[in-house]
Amino acid sequence: MDRLYALSTHLRQRYGGRVLKIPLDAGYSCPNRDGTIASDGCVFCNPAGSGSGLLSRGQDIPAQWAFWRSVHGGRGGVERYTAYLQSFSNTHGPVERLARTLDALAGLPGLVALSIGTRPDCLDPDKLDLLAERRDTLGLADLTLELGLQSANDATLAHIGRGHDSAAFADAARAAARRGLTVVAHVMAGLPTPGGRVGREDRDDLAATVDFVNGLPVRGIKFHNVYVARGTRLARLHDRGEYEPPGLDEYLDQLGHALERLSPATVVHRLNANPARGELLAPAWAGNMRALHNAVRVHLDAADIRQGRLCGAAAGPPPWFSPEYKGELP
Ligand code: SF4
Repeated sequence: MDRLYALSTHLRQRYGGRVLKIPLDAGYSCPNRDGTIASDGCVFCNPAGSGSGLLSRGQDIPAQWAFWRSVHGGRGGVERYTAYLQSFSNTHGPVERLARTLDALAGLPGLVALSIGTRPDCLDPDKLDLLAERRDTLGLADLTLELGLQSANDATLAHIGRGHDSAAFADAARAAARRGLTVVAHVMAGLPTPGGRVGREDRDDLAATVDFVNGLPVRGIKFHNVYVARGTRLARLHDRGEYEPPGLDEYLDQLGHALERLSPATVVHRLNANPARGELLAPAWAGNMRALHNAVRVHLDAADIRQGRLCGAAAGPPPWFSPEYKGELP
């Protein structure tokens, strides 16, 4: 049974097969770290774990591309790639800098799409216009903005030191969609809260965040379980006994509930966080990807979870949940 609209399914429908993602480090920082907004970063953010640092070690974007292509190239005949500007906030700074970054992508072999990780408050109209123009001049099938929302609750966002509110996310998502750019939202389960019973967001909070995303022109979502990473403010809270990340059963319950509320048209890119090597302090289960993927699959089957059951797909899975679907995409 097709329980959700998975990214692998969507890519097969959109491109006729696999498209690999190549992570690129374009040397950006983040306004929540470099003093533009704040210096501490979000409570969960590990500055050492957020970037590969390849650019500062002398590997420019074409060199990084060549390296990753040599790793992936020809695997299963795949020669289609999404460039993923992943580290920190890749539209931070002047528009001229963004233009130079986009220039460096021209002519990369096999490039069919671009994903840019950034913050909603780093996307003024000039940058969005530039992105829409370069999507066309670079011949990209998709230009996706991966925007951190994390929670739709402004009190939580303030508590974790996010530096923007949910309205900033909504404005950026609408402005990007008006230009034909694809928006993917990052959301987190179990963020610390300023008050509350367990000191962290619960299933109703994640459900409210999903409801918020459903109301916006957001085409994809990445779910992350909160974990405690070395060197973060969350690690200090955890040390003092002021925060505990959700346990596995709690996370599975939150995730299943959120999926049932998620629009069936939204592509699910991730179902869990993936800690960088060496950064995970707690919980231990968050570091075992194989066991976690298996636990998610077993939970969705056992609880008979289906994306969108409570949001427009009550009667059964829509046809596009199937990789074989050939009709119009939602
Ligand atoms: S916006 Fe992203 S990179 Fe910046 S501090 Fe927060 S999590 Fe870290």
